[in-house]
Amino acid sequence: MLDKMGRQIEYLRVSITDRCNLRCVYCMPENGIEQVAHDDILSFDELYRVIKETTNLGIKKVRITGGEPLVRKGIIPFIKRIKDIEGIEEVCLTTNGILLLDYMDQLYEAGLDRINISLDTFNCDKYKSITRRDGLHKVLEAIDLGVKKGFKRIKVNTVIIKELNYEEIEEFVNLVEKYDIDVRFIELMPIGEGKDYTPTSNDEIKEIIKRNRNLYPVYSKKGAGPAKYYKTNGAKGRIGFISAMSHEFCQECNRIRITSEGFLKLCLHSKRGIDLRQLLRSKIDDHELGYIIREAVENKPDRHHFNENSEDQDNRLMSQIGG
Ligand code: SAM
Ligand code: SF4
Repeated sequence: MLDKMGRQIEYLRVSITDRCNLRCVYCMPENGIEQVAHDDILSFDELYRVIKETTNLGIKKVRITGGEPLVRKGIIPFIKRIKDIEGIEEVCLTTNGILLLDYMDQLYEAGLDRINISLDTFNCDKYKSITRRDGLHKVLEAIDLGVKKGFKRIKVNTVIIKELNYEEIEEFVNLVEKYDIDVRFIELMPIGEGKDYTPTSNDEIKEIIKRNRNLYPVYSKKGAGPAKYYKTNGAKGRIGFISAMSHEFCQECNRIRITSEGFLKLCLHSKRGIDLRQLLRSKIDDHELGYIIREAVENKPDRHHFNENSEDQDNRLMSQIGG
């Protein structure tokens, strides 16, 4: 489906829960989070209906995210059902990796295509201070097993923050020298808790990598997403840079989002969107639902306004949006 800017919207990110088993300091506060009440979270049937309707409108790729998606019971049959929708080409998952070892086989058998694993440090103590929980070894084992399992691609997403993990940039490069995976540096966005930390620009990260390595750009398919990919000499995998803050890529944006309480978000940063839960529970028919989604998407915001003081800014935490 095309929006008014002529962007082809093909990618839907679905947050299935706002709950999480970690408390990453730049994403969620330790306490005092107002959780969405159980009844206010869309059921898997409701989410399925929305996904099916967006597929009729041209969505081809679905990413399951959260909160931590693996904490929601029933995720495996849900993935299977989405995989079976005609028109869906890929179902992907973004996870912190803590429960991944437990679910790896079932996810693979359900037909999951790709996994993105979020990891910000290789140091146990630092892991505890960043996530406020334990479990680094589980995440590292999950990366190792995921590579062997045969998913289309394993990607590790990392956010480099001056106060937290700045000195570990090269360790992430070591990971793509060891495995044929992608490590992607995602610039910290000033959302929720993220506002309290100092971001590192991807240009700065590139300069640090270049001190000891040859870093060269590699081809990535047009429409393959916002990451720009590079390699270092002899590496098996690639290094990706997602530079939402320093090199805005809104003109190529192909995605929309749905939060766990059923809010259709048209841009990560903007509060514009529609309350699908209310519509779904008001017994709206599929034709009307499709029409309303289509009309909303047509008016997707042109670009984000992170770098400006915008009234349109969404106050949700990243854990409520799904990244
Ligand atoms: N819990 C899952 C995980 O951590 O992969 C999925 C949800 S999490 C919100 C998705 C991604 O958002 C993670 O990779 C996390 O590092 C990233 N993230 C959270 N807050 C962010 C911020 N302020 N700026 C940029 N990325 C952020
Ligand atoms: Fe949870 Fe993911 Fe946010 Fe960390 S980044 S607190 S794992 S939702």
